[in-house]
Amino acid sequence: MTNPEPGETAAPEAGRDFIRDIVAGDLAAKKYPQAVTRFPPEPNGYLHIGHAKSIALNFGIAQEFAGRCHLRFDDTNPVKEEQEYIDAIKADVKWLGFDWGKHLYHASDYFEQLYQWAEGLISAGKAYVDDQSQEEIRINRGTLTEPGKNSPFRERPVAENLDLFRRMRAGEFPNGARVLRAKIDMASGNINLRDPVLYRILHATHPRTGNTWKIYPSYDYAHGQSDAIEGVTHSVCTLEFEDHRPLYDWLIENLPVPSKPHQYEFARLNITYTLLSKRVLTELVKQGHVVGWDDPRMPTLAGLRRRGVPPAAVRDFVKRIGVAKANSTVDVGMFEFSVREALNKTALRRMAVLRPLKVVIENYPEGQTEQLEAANHPDDPAAGTRKITFSRELYIEQDDFMENPPKKFFRLSPGKEVRLRYAYFITCKSVIKNDKGEITELRCVYDPATKGGNAPDGRKVKATMHWLSAADAKPAELRLYNPLFTNPAPNAANFAADLNPASLETLRTALVEPAVIAGDDSEPMQFERQGYFVRDKESGAGKPVFNRVIGLRDTFAKETAKEHAKK
Ligand code: ATP
Ligand code: MG
Repeated sequence: MTNPEPGETAAPEAGRDFIRDIVAGDLAAKKYPQAVTRFPPEPNGYLHIGHAKSIALNFGIAQEFAGRCHLRFDDTNPVKEEQEYIDAIKADVKWLGFDWGKHLYHASDYFEQLYQWAEGLISAGKAYVDDQSQEEIRINRGTLTEPGKNSPFRERPVAENLDLFRRMRAGEFPNGARVLRAKIDMASGNINLRDPVLYRILHATHPRTGNTWKIYPSYDYAHGQSDAIEGVTHSVCTLEFEDHRPLYDWLIENLPVPSKPHQYEFARLNITYTLLSKRVLTELVKQGHVVGWDDPRMPTLAGLRRRGVPPAAVRDFVKRIGVAKANSTVDVGMFEFSVREALNKTALRRMAVLRPLKVVIENYPEGQTEQLEAANHPDDPAAGTRKITFSRELYIEQDDFMENPPKKFFRLSPGKEVRLRYAYFITCKSVIKNDKGEITELRCVYDPATKGGNAPDGRKVKATMHWLSAADAKPAELRLYNPLFTNPAPNAANFAADLNPASLETLRTALVEPAVIAGDDSEPMQFERQGYFVRDKESGAGKPVFNRVIGLRDTFAKETAKEHAKK
């Protein structure tokens, strides 16, 4: 999926969302020869699934309308930005399936040009150096109901402003001593137009420009001008920037920029049980609530990747939710639906026992084993089959047995017959317990006539269970994940209170069939009846570790919602 070059035929599917409608309309009206978009992350954290919505929108428009999409790092705040984040963001965009080709840019590429334009604004009497403290600026900005107060430095002569601004650049003043502000209107109904800050003094080392700069442009000053330099036509961002648009336009009108981009806003993605704020995600990492940015419980793209979520599932999800102008929250179940859909089609089926219970088949000869045929994918014969071993000693799931079952329990219990998948019918004869009264073993018998899982006399059983042969079951650590938060709408201001203490359950005594260990390293598998699993990066030869990507059915959301309602 590379950016097509201009002139390649466009095949827009009209009417999919209001932004694509605008792009289609502008191209039809020949307003631009080509649609140019950009994805502009600030490299101050890892990308999350909310960013995926923006990536898919911006790169999607470029693909669908034969335009191009730039990846531009909005690297204007060296205090919070790091090379690690720049590298991670690139890797994540690629993983998601998008390619910026040669169009990789940085706001820092434009620092000199932005500086020159700022001098131009000063010369035109449209910007001034303000010596007020940050606090004074904040107070004098006014409120939504009260106009702001002009700075005592607002009428400084042009020559003095130029001199001070050049000395700011030269590093003569400490952090916070002065700022450059646009001279717009301190009484504007839009607070963003009350002489916004364009430059601040910051003695910090920048990942790309090192110590060259002692002043850095604000987001508002850098963003639109970077768009204009790159020839971006449709500058798509989230709704919180709607009130910044008049400033975006003011700067474009008042600077000699080479093109006039237009900003459009769409609703950011919110998901239940999830916080999509880089500030919160950074805190989760720093405070050790998770093991890192790629913790499989994190909504980061790195976390989803490690969790085993296929990139196609993320693309499918953001396509399904669409792009709207009003903020809303999407049920996490919708995301999980896309994940299951993607995995169900491709994941090979395997057997694993999460919490093993030993079964001895009393009428199966000691020392004997046999190889049975098991399908790798029930809906896809092309996926082939594999051999699994049957023997006298087996393991089943503890949950699949009840000594005193309620009426509707159809799995194994004393006297009951069930099917072991791909093997035989077995009947439970007796239960062996330790001195604490815990069940340690079941004694069962099998019916040799039911090989393959069907009885020649046509008798039915109500349950088919997965199992493993003790002869070749392999130990593995399985990590089961639940949402990080128990509150469907976690409180970003006090997220620690909403953390789910049971977000990770580690099963250290699980068993898996040999094909799981021998299989492809990176592809998720379905452990029958238990969900989709993928090998974790911590997995080693001596200690295989698998993450549960997702269960086969949605149980958490419903149960947690019930619990939450009771509180
Ligand atoms: P946060 O608020 O989590 O710190 P941000 O918006 O400040 O994120 P940026 O790196 O500036 O992070 O975001 C890059 C782009 O991704 C922006 O255009 C932003 O609007 C968009 N974006 C960020 N979060 C979401 C979201 N939840 N849904 C859709 N788009 C988003
Ligand atoms: Mg931002």
